[in-house]
Amino acid sequence: MPLVRLLTDIIYPPRCVICSRFLWNGLLTRDSRSPFFCRECMADFHAIASPICPVCGRPFSSEAAEDHVCEDCLRKRPFYYAARAPYHYKGAILKAVHRLKYGSKGLVAKGLGPLLARFAALQMQAVEGVVVMPVPLHPRRLRERGFNQSLLLARYVSRALSADMDFLSLRRVRYTRPQTKLAKEERRQNVRGAFQLNDNATIRGRPILLVDDVVTTGNTLNECARILRKGGAQKIYGLSLARASRQERP
Ligand SMILES: [Zn+2]
Ligand SMILES: [Zn+2]
Repeated sequence: MPLVRLLTDIIYPPRCVICSRFLWNGLLTRDSRSPFFCRECMADFHAIASPICPVCGRPFSSEAAEDHVCEDCLRKRPFYYAARAPYHYKGAILKAVHRLKYGSKGLVAKGLGPLLARFAALQMQAVEGVVVMPVPLHPRRLRERGFNQSLLLARYVSRALSADMDFLSLRRVRYTRPQTKLAKEERRQNVRGAFQLNDNATIRGRPILLVDDVVTTGNTLNECARILRKGGAQKIYGLSLARASRQERP
């Protein structure tokens, strides 16, 4: 450990960005995978593993089955090509995403951004010329919150992929009620027409990687993808920190 960091740690003992526990008892108990999370929180991350739906990325609860297209995607193919997330929306990641939404943007973004960037590099290595695009917030929500958490995450992703980032072309033009308070059909209606494309110069003919913090129903992602496809984008990919399974839907 570099001396400067050791001294800084002594003067300002680092805390876990999720639960605020001190990260050391004595010397060096920081988890080697992430210098920002404590061991208890790291152990409470639940990685998504097969079986999943290869289209929307939703994990299935059965252990035995192989990956297969889920009922929703069979019934109506989404406008995006594929969506993936490294973690289930529960445990430490749920707490972390919550903190990311309602404050502590710097620290959590530092911890979560690199996690998502590593995952993106693995998932997207075969896709060339991708444009990274955060799911935009409505200006009113942006004012309330002060920052767009998806944009913070997208910065890390675009850097890891050495990809262009575009956070201006797609705009959220309608202020929507939180998806969590609505029934299934209402959720779809709720985001319909919520987004608009200012300009398609950067996206025409290019694959797009849409970045969001959490995907629950996938309706927001799908609506963004619909607009981008209409604007001439090539394949659309979705990436989020967490993906809710059916049971985890809030
Ligand atoms: Zn912790
Ligand atoms: Zn699916």
